[in-house]
Amino acid sequence: MKKIHLKKNKDHRLLSGHLWVFAGEIESQDKGIVSGDEVDVFSSRGHFLARGIYNQTSQIRVRVLTRDVHQEINSTFIHERILQAWLFRQKIGYGENCRVVFGESDFLPGLIVDKFGDVLSVQIFSLALEKFKDDVFKSLQEIFSPRAIFERSDIAVRKLEGLEERKVLVCGQLSDVTVIDERGVKFFVDIENGQKTGFFLDQKENRLALKTFVKDAEVLDCFTYTGSFALFAAHFGAKKVTALDISGAAVAAARRNAELNGLASVCEFIEANAFDLLKEWSVAGRQFDVIILDPPAFTKTRTQINSAVRGYKEINLRALKMIKPGGFLITCSCSHFMHPGLFRDVIQSAAIDASRTVREIVYQTQAKDHPYLWAMPETLYLKFYVLQVM
Ligand code: SAH
Repeated sequence: MKKIHLKKNKDHRLLSGHLWVFAGEIESQDKGIVSGDEVDVFSSRGHFLARGIYNQTSQIRVRVLTRDVHQEINSTFIHERILQAWLFRQKIGYGENCRVVFGESDFLPGLIVDKFGDVLSVQIFSLALEKFKDDVFKSLQEIFSPRAIFERSDIAVRKLEGLEERKVLVCGQLSDVTVIDERGVKFFVDIENGQKTGFFLDQKENRLALKTFVKDAEVLDCFTYTGSFALFAAHFGAKKVTALDISGAAVAAARRNAELNGLASVCEFIEANAFDLLKEWSVAGRQFDVIILDPPAFTKTRTQINSAVRGYKEINLRALKMIKPGGFLITCSCSHFMHPGLFRDVIQSAAIDASRTVREIVYQTQAKDHPYLWAMPETLYLKFYVLQVM
């Protein structure tokens, strides 16, 4: 096995269970190691730390696959990891629609598998898992016997790993429409062209949290995508739901979903830029009982954090001004770089500027099928608040 030695004092993260070795942490490496090679990583004192896959192109030089020196990395290993991930989902009550594999949190760095009924939607982010992709697909077929596997590796971050984007039907056949039932609300899922893997499963439990706050309410859902929060609000008895998205395709899909659930008469969908409309409506003095903000990740890098802060502050400020006294702001951030404390500070500063006092009623993160590996802060990304606005 080819060897890599870390610099002095650079072994703490791996020892705590983190799965990445950064380029700057490597002291020395055997000659001739090339991207895709399996390597063993040692501390500066020569202790074995981990075994993983090397990538010369990426700042994440090694993605760790095991910390067991006796573990062989082969098709059986991949099969076993995927099987364990699936058994765990079933153990905690998931099955029909769920995230089966959540990358590093399932010890499969850079692999996402979402299950929508009998269809699997897969994303591969890392060279490490790209190397084993045939084993991944074979294992998925053996474990799930799915009607179809669709690969949605059409994601820009693959470039950082030296990989091309790819979007392909791996096996089986997609039907014209895939419909999922999320605890009583149905959604069309566009596996081929929807955002990410087709549907945001990470907000599943957060959608249910609406129940307590939306009965008879006038609700505004600002980044609605295919209408998931909007429809749950209507389902839980909102009097009127207004929902908007900048994407015409998303708005059209949201309307179809409202019709599918017989909720179209309560819901209005508008194609608009939330920044513009929130400004216009707050200046005009429009009021809502509940406003939901689930924007896209305004930042995917640490360097853009300031502009992301401005974005979050702007929309939260406008929304806070439009909430009736005693109403609720339901606000999210799905960017890992927006750390929980920072996100809270931004909303608090928006509340101060809006001359409103907020009370935290609910704080949750991503659904349980997206577990947060404490050793890897990167695996916690979603923040979800229900705040009462006085
Ligand atoms: N709440 C959704 C997910 C939202 S994803 C769910 O649970 O499924 C973010 C959405 O914001 C995307 O659909 C994107 O089209 C939309 N979006 C991005 N920028 C926007 C803007 N400036 N105004 C309104 N919508 C925007």
